[in-house]
Amino acid sequence: MCLSMIKKDLTCMFKTHIFNFDKDKEERETIMSNLSELKLQIELVPKGCWGTNLRKVCDDRDWNIISRYVREQKGNTCEVCGWKEDRKNRKYTHCHEVWDYNHETKVQSLVKLECLCPDCHAVHHWGHSQMIGRDIDALTKHAIKVNYGIEITNTLDIESVVKEESVLYIWNEHISFSYIIWRGRSRMTWTTDFKGIVKNES
Ligand SMILES: [Zn+2]
Repeated sequence: MCLSMIKKDLTCMFKTHIFNFDKDKEERETIMSNLSELKLQIELVPKGCWGTNLRKVCDDRDWNIISRYVREQKGNTCEVCGWKEDRKNRKYTHCHEVWDYNHETKVQSLVKLECLCPDCHAVHHWGHSQMIGRDIDALTKHAIKVNYGIEITNTLDIESVVKEESVLYIWNEHISFSYIIWRGRSRMTWTTDFKGIVKNES
């Protein structure tokens, strides 16, 4: 548990209440840069980019080859939390597309492909997870454990309660901020660039 990290997050998060995505461009980039330090973040895909991804442009066979390759390269282990694939119980890692959104050029670029556990993947796709009825409390606990090393429990210990409420507050602010970014990006028209992963693989 890193209190200095929490303080930094609080300083950053409080600004979300007065932050305007379209007008405060410098503020936007500063806050986004601070947030990118979170190990496990919410990555909401802008509305105009839904369905525009490598998974959709590949046929199933090609995507399975790519996905298996990426996951095997990482030892079928989650790159964020270290969870290992459990084939015996048919619990597999996923292949996740990491995108960068350039607000000036309006280009969404595929930066890399990651091997993730089902829970980290579901946290990244928070909006989709809500839509399909994933257990959001369980995902919140997972995100807090990964980001802050705190296991949320139903303890009566006052120190634990304060710590848990602090990180829950920060996490909820992270969600709010992610939706501000998502709404701003959803008002833009994006073009897609897949070249990032070609460069990484060469
Ligand atoms: Zn994970």
